[in-house]
Amino acid sequence: MRKFKTESKKLLDLMINSIYTNKEIFLRELISNASDAMDKLYFMSLTDPNTRVAKDELRIRVSFDKEARTVTISDSGVGMDKDELEKNLGTIAHSGSFDFKSESGDEQNDDIDIIGQFGVGFYSAFMVSDGVKVITKKYGTGQAYVWESCSIEGYTIEEAEKDAYGTDVILTIREDAGDEKYDTYLSEQGLKNLIRKYSNYVRYPIEMECTERRALPKPEDAGDDYQTQYEEYAELKTINSMTPIWKHKKSEVSQEEYDEFYKDNFHDFTDPVRTISIHAEGSFSFDALLFIPGRAPYDLYSKEFKKGLALYSSGVMIMEKCEDLLPDCFNFVRGVVDSEDLSLNISRETLQQDSQLRAIARRIEKKIKAELVDMRDNDREGYEKVFENFGRGMKYGIYSSYGAQEDLLGDLLLFYSAREKKMITLDEYVSAVSEDQKSIFYAAGESNDRLSKMSIVEFVLGKGHDVLFCTQDVDEFCLTAMNQYAEKDLRNVAGGDLGLDSEDEKSAAKVVAEENGDLLAAMKDALGDRVAKVAVSTRLTDAPACITTQGPISLEMEKMFASAPGADGVKSERVLEINAGHPIFETLKGAEEAGDTEKVERYTDILYNQALLVEGMPIEDPVAFTRSVCELMK
Ligand code: ADP
Repeated sequence: MRKFKTESKKLLDLMINSIYTNKEIFLRELISNASDAMDKLYFMSLTDPNTRVAKDELRIRVSFDKEARTVTISDSGVGMDKDELEKNLGTIAHSGSFDFKSESGDEQNDDIDIIGQFGVGFYSAFMVSDGVKVITKKYGTGQAYVWESCSIEGYTIEEAEKDAYGTDVILTIREDAGDEKYDTYLSEQGLKNLIRKYSNYVRYPIEMECTERRALPKPEDAGDDYQTQYEEYAELKTINSMTPIWKHKKSEVSQEEYDEFYKDNFHDFTDPVRTISIHAEGSFSFDALLFIPGRAPYDLYSKEFKKGLALYSSGVMIMEKCEDLLPDCFNFVRGVVDSEDLSLNISRETLQQDSQLRAIARRIEKKIKAELVDMRDNDREGYEKVFENFGRGMKYGIYSSYGAQEDLLGDLLLFYSAREKKMITLDEYVSAVSEDQKSIFYAAGESNDRLSKMSIVEFVLGKGHDVLFCTQDVDEFCLTAMNQYAEKDLRNVAGGDLGLDSEDEKSAAKVVAEENGDLLAAMKDALGDRVAKVAVSTRLTDAPACITTQGPISLEMEKMFASAPGADGVKSERVLEINAGHPIFETLKGAEEAGDTEKVERYTDILYNQALLVEGMPIEDPVAFTRSVCELMK
């Protein structure tokens, strides 16, 4: 006997001792394996001239034997040779479900969840069986093998007799025990129900021998009181509807069926938030079924993440993830595209050039956009969740296209509004401002909480203008790439002149600056290259000073660059703005007038570093800074 690999053993143990109530999914899992095996064979037949298989030879047969307590699932798929049996049924390393379980840590509760959340494939057979036998013959080979396991300890593989290629999975169904009812799997109706419930859209016929009833001909000598007599007979019937789910109109399929299909096929355990069904006819026809997931996959922002939609040609999968069908900004969308007009031998290179495929991609992009807009307008709470999960990709889309994707994505963006205290769109911002407000103001920083305390933000709010908060690293890059929205400039409140000062305010500041020219120059000298300028502020009320920037790079962007490899040298042009109405300004003035250069230098240094701290920027020499503060406290 061969032993199961450790991780398989754990899963098997779970299955055998499972208290999971939804044990009936075993049939779906085995049928889905059978269907995959036939997909593989059919695809081979289309691409390899040595494989000859007609599509109508591909079928799944489900049968049962009440006496022997067996259920058999047979397919005419590709089958397995000895090595494949060993590799595929002796270990589950290839299925992502177990990795997920061990990562999540909480062993106890996951036992049940893992079964519900993922298809656990072949091993689910053990939830209902005392023993499992797999007789299989690989297409194109002469020898069949039987794999058998009755316990967690291990399995055997031996040579076997089987005429046709394909696989028979034979389950020995457990006896009923208390509340656990297994006999239903040994009944025609029980199996039929399960096939219709879980495997209705499998694209190959799932056949079962059914007991039918027909009326016997009325005997010639039957009297008036003759009652119709019936006889029972057996007939092989196809139980499933067979048309793939994406070919059906949305009205023909229930949301539960869509949800099940999504979760099964895209290995997610949450229902999708939106289901999009497209049926295009005309110069190119295709069906597509798309889903907006309810959560972001953990690897969405990693290099390993691969976007793409499954591509089918006339119901045959030709590519699991066709990248070209989805723009990067909608990389989170999952789904299937099926077109009769595509060639089956399509390869990576030709896909990119395929104008038909590009046309499909355009159509899909539009549909996704329309769905998101619909959510934004009619289900804001749901949309906010979607944006929280996937908004970063949309913002990145605008940034990486240098603003070219603004038309597609601009109106989908949400930012936190300092005034409304909730997420709003740019259009909502614009519609709430007066005609003469030329800009959309935003502030960039670590958190909404921190930003709302920034004196410049308070200043702009005080002037009667809303401020949008940028708390994600990509936010400001996105807004900078857009430059304008609805003809309004997008302006960082910590950037150059905001154009909010009245003529009086401007000239008052100018006068103060002129009167204190020497002080400002001394302060600039004290700071050297650290700032481009020291200026009298018109945007400070309480704080003694703040740092703003001139030029295209803001402090937040500088922070980002500092953590990006290779971009460390990118610096903002800082301006120390000083509040002439603050008592500290008077102190500085006094020191300057008394010729106390050292005091001016030290105070300027402290003011500058304090302003950096408020911005959440690192100060260059914390030791010197604390020493200076201590000096003052003496
Ligand atoms: P999954 O289907 O998620 O890969 P399973 O545990 O259900 O995991 O199956 C493991 C592997 O065994 C499959 O990937 C497939 O290669 C093989 N297999 C299972 N059932 C069949 C079958 N009926 N015909 C051919 N190969 C099969």
